[in-house]
Amino acid sequence: MAIKKVGVVGAGTMGNGIAQIAAQIGCDVVMRDIETRFVEAGMKKIQDFLAKSVEKGKMDVKEKDAVLARIKGTVDMADLKDVDLIIEAVIEDLDLKRSVFKELDGLCRPEVILATNTSSMSITEIAASTKRPEKVCGMHFFNPAPLMRLVEIIRGYATSDETIKTATEFARKLGKVTIEVKKDSPGFVVNRIMTPHFLEAIKIVEEGIASIQDVDVAVKNGLNYPMGPFELMDLTGIDIAYYVTEYLYKELNKESKWVSPNLMKTMVRSGNLGRKTGKGWY
Ligand code: NAD
Repeated sequence: MAIKKVGVVGAGTMGNGIAQIAAQIGCDVVMRDIETRFVEAGMKKIQDFLAKSVEKGKMDVKEKDAVLARIKGTVDMADLKDVDLIIEAVIEDLDLKRSVFKELDGLCRPEVILATNTSSMSITEIAASTKRPEKVCGMHFFNPAPLMRLVEIIRGYATSDETIKTATEFARKLGKVTIEVKKDSPGFVVNRIMTPHFLEAIKIVEEGIASIQDVDVAVKNGLNYPMGPFELMDLTGIDIAYYVTEYLYKELNKESKWVSPNLMKTMVRSGNLGRKTGKGWY
């Protein structure tokens, strides 16, 4: 089935970025959130991103207006009923995701793939809330979705080869590099590698071995990473890094290597969340 119309559930950081890139390749997009102010904020993010692209000469005004015209923001779940693919990007809460998938399962045509952008949760558990687990997979985009090149395509226990193929082809149409995560395992590939590197960086600061700034300088110049771990956490959210760590600890047999450092907990509990809040490691 050709994917001409895409439903994006959640208009936040990830949802609006995914909606934008789907519209940029010519798809009609329905972006749903629970309140009008969230939908409007998501649309504003897209408008601002595209306006910057025009300023930089990457796109002309006509093209920008055409992309925006293809995105319909809504609070009404029923507006998703005729889409060809769903990409869910609501907050990282398993119960919420399961209830959203159950509702989508009752709403969308049986052949429609329901993909989740979860950072760490079980595709199999999310899929179990539907009657089409073979049509459920992970499509894990990275932040910011319009710029980051990778999408992890994740296989749940029942996901069919056809679903993996269709999701992979669609991600590639979006201009992304894909990898297949063959087993539904907590953290998939990137977060499984990234989280220990965050935790070690925080422990190094906690132990007084080096400063936040110097850890970032070390990682950028010694490992040739484009950003240091603290800069990256400020961008993607210290709260998200913390929730992912707690989840990996619980799911990966409570091994000590996944214990959250006190400094990380303190940052989150005191509202120093990086992303959006203007308060973080820096
Ligand atoms: P966010 O908080 O910025 O946005 C989530 C949005 O979902 C909010 O606007 C919220 O109102 C909305 N929402 C809640 N319930 C809803 C419902 N029933 N229907 C529609 N919308 C609903 O979160 P985010 O950072 O965009 O994360 C979304 C998902 O993407 C999470 O699963 C997260 O783990 C994952 N993810 C995040 C990042 C990142 O760096 N932020 C990267 C990759 C994946």
